[in-house]
Amino acid sequence: MDHDLIVVGASFAGAACALAAAQSGLRVCVLERKRDPGDKLRTTGIIVKEAAERTLLGELPAHLTRRVERVQLYAPNLKQVALAAPGSYFLTTDTPGVMRWLAEQLRAHGVDLRLGTAFRDAKRVGDHWHVDGVGRARYLVGADGARSRVADRCGLGRVRGFLYGIEYEFPHARLADPDALHCFISKRHAPGYIGWIAQNPGGVQAGLALRHDPAHVRVPDLDTFLLRVGQAGGLPLRLTPGPTRAGLIPCSGPVWPLARDGAILTGDAAGIVSPVTAGGIHASWEHAWTVGRAVAAHLRQGGPAPESVAIDAAPRFRTKRALRWAYDRMPFDWPFDLLLSAPPVRWAAERVYFG
Ligand SMILES: Cc1cc2nc3c(=O)[nH]c(=O)nc-3n(C[C@H](O)[C@H](O)[C@H](O)COP(=O)(O)OP(=O)(O)OC[C@H]3O[C@@H](n4cnc5c(N)ncnc54)[C@H](O)[C@@H]3O)c2cc1C
Repeated sequence: MDHDLIVVGASFAGAACALAAAQSGLRVCVLERKRDPGDKLRTTGIIVKEAAERTLLGELPAHLTRRVERVQLYAPNLKQVALAAPGSYFLTTDTPGVMRWLAEQLRAHGVDLRLGTAFRDAKRVGDHWHVDGVGRARYLVGADGARSRVADRCGLGRVRGFLYGIEYEFPHARLADPDALHCFISKRHAPGYIGWIAQNPGGVQAGLALRHDPAHVRVPDLDTFLLRVGQAGGLPLRLTPGPTRAGLIPCSGPVWPLARDGAILTGDAAGIVSPVTAGGIHASWEHAWTVGRAVAAHLRQGGPAPESVAIDAAPRFRTKRALRWAYDRMPFDWPFDLLLSAPPVRWAAERVYFG
């Protein structure tokens, strides 16, 4: 056998799975189609406190992160309310730097990281997978994002529901209030989600996401949105955007089947993203780490089948899926204009952001 485990994707889920398995002594190969892992990003890269305190992401070098302890939430009419919870915070990140740091961690742990190598196909032969152009492995993990080719080639479940997010980076820019994550509710610009402006260690990110309908694809109109909210959010005038980040965000809960016959999905490929906040970094990391550990425990000590562990460990997001259903069907802006600063609404918003 060439490898114990082949992982496709070197973003958060792929890195977590590979690191967990490599730390347990497995021979791990990671395929990443990008030559530079910090290139062409599809995430804002905001890390929640739980991930910062309970995972390896807490060891990120200080210059790659910036602590933000408050959310400034804006109603559609731009009235605003400050949200916070004792001891809670987010980390905004120099996300390209984070991705490159993860690649360094993989190499430092002896993982065979193959950048610029796309997964094309794999065949099940006996009790292992034969991956085109790479070789044989007992387990194959798809951490290759929302449109997973591993899922497609291995007959696993596909994500059904998405948000579509787009974001500009403004390198070296500084917000008037850089210590808050500025979030904007707007059914007109962001039906099904929100817009946001955030200060990161090296500049500003401003983005918008909305519910994705494959039958009527609508591209988020970030320029018009920023003309409307930029000044309220403290964005300096006449900025020229740098790189753009864009992508689909799963919001329909875990896929089925998520694993079988030595092939396992994790992260966005498995639909492991909160349907309410669209945050996937922490949930992806936790699930992928569990999968890496389970593969190692199975191969080394005859532990339970990693396929079952992966399925059991996937969060079902039942309440959050119900909230997503309700938010998708709420057609009006006026309840937010009227009620945003009412104590129950404020309490609920603080639970969503910090709970
Ligand atoms: C615009 C946007 C903003 C977001 N902001 C946040 C946020 O601030 N905080 C948060 O928690 N979550 C956020 N999310 C969600 C979060 O980014 C994802 O849940 C998280 O990145 C999941 O990581 P992943 O490793 O599963 O997938 P991805 O990050 O999508 O990584 C998949 C990797 O697989 C590689 N790949 C794909 N196909 C192949 C192939 N065939 N062969 C080899 N490699 C391949 C890709 O190049 C990529 O590196 C955001 C998502 C979007 C789209």
